[in-house]
Amino acid sequence: MNIPFVELTTQHKVLRNEINAAIQGVLERGDFILGQDVAKLEEEFAAYCGAKYAVGVDNGLSALELSLRAFGIGEGDEVIVPTHTFTASAAAITFAGATPVFVDADPETWNIDVEKIEDAITPRTKAILPVHLYGLPADMHMILGIAEKYNLVVVEDACQAHGARYKGYRVGSFGNAAGFSFYPTKNLGGCGDGGIITTNDAKAAEAMRALRNCGQRNKNIHELEPFNHRLDSLQAAILRVKLKYLDEWIASRRRLAEMYNRLLAGSSVTTPVELPGYQHVYHLYVVRSPHRDALQAHLKERGIGTAIHYPSPVHLQPFYANGQNRRGQFPIAEKLCNEILSLPMFPEMTEEQVEIVASEVAKMPVPVP
Ligand SMILES: *Cc1c(COP(=O)(O)O)cnc(C)c1O
Repeated sequence: MNIPFVELTTQHKVLRNEINAAIQGVLERGDFILGQDVAKLEEEFAAYCGAKYAVGVDNGLSALELSLRAFGIGEGDEVIVPTHTFTASAAAITFAGATPVFVDADPETWNIDVEKIEDAITPRTKAILPVHLYGLPADMHMILGIAEKYNLVVVEDACQAHGARYKGYRVGSFGNAAGFSFYPTKNLGGCGDGGIITTNDAKAAEAMRALRNCGQRNKNIHELEPFNHRLDSLQAAILRVKLKYLDEWIASRRRLAEMYNRLLAGSSVTTPVELPGYQHVYHLYVVRSPHRDALQAHLKERGIGTAIHYPSPVHLQPFYANGQNRRGQFPIAEKLCNEILSLPMFPEMTEEQVEIVASEVAKMPVPVP
């Protein structure tokens, strides 16, 4: 018995005919760059999120970087970001020319600790980049309140949270802009790299369209930084097929997560929280255990795949661990990184597989210190 951490081939077998037809459509039109499928995906994805505009780009990191740039954030500016996230959240700030200022994790939700944001604000702070980590929305009410008080831009990192809701509204509709990733394992994933930005700001959307396409607002006039961050038409065509199934896949993830929660209640691991008003989409199903390494080894022995998201907080990654960012600075995130374990989770996973994983977690012999 082998239970993989994530499995992508079943989904593509089920959708084979629809995806093949979508690819053929692009091949027949030959509109490979910014073709009609890119424009249609943008319309459909914006509508899905409840945002006015969407701009397709080449990956999630660029989605976040161009979001910051479109709001004029760059050199000399500081942007607040959780340290408990994927490095790309901070990298987007670095690549925009600004400085990431890290904030610790909330001990209960593991998202950015909103009580600690104001302490990190300086006269140079221009934006907050909250992350909807693992698919759970950040506390947007508090974050938008702080942003209003200090006149800050909010860019949501929604790369793990397509379709997640906060107080009934989808992520990607709260901030000045939001970045999403279509990396293949994400809840909405392409067959390669891809990303998209949502925004309600017409001027920013126009700047993002120029920034992704060699800085051109008008053809052959390269006004803004001449980057190439375009989304491929082929990826857009595939993603349009998959977008129709996203809600079904989210429902499946939520059903499997509920099973995990129920079966793991009373075990040695802490299960994820979903407070009232929040709708988690379980991109990752992450538990916490003081015996994480032993638990991971036990599951591996039983043929169960797991992963750690992420083994180090961003402020301690070699690229960021400079004089300002030190060990001991963000104790909650630092401890979390030693205790978290991502269990198998994908929409096609069976209930029987969840039962097996949960019973193996419960059976784990607690190591003697
Ligand atoms: C995946 C991810 C990104 C970056 O997405 P890419 O498409 O791989 O560039 C950014 N932030 C978070 C939280 C992610 O999970």
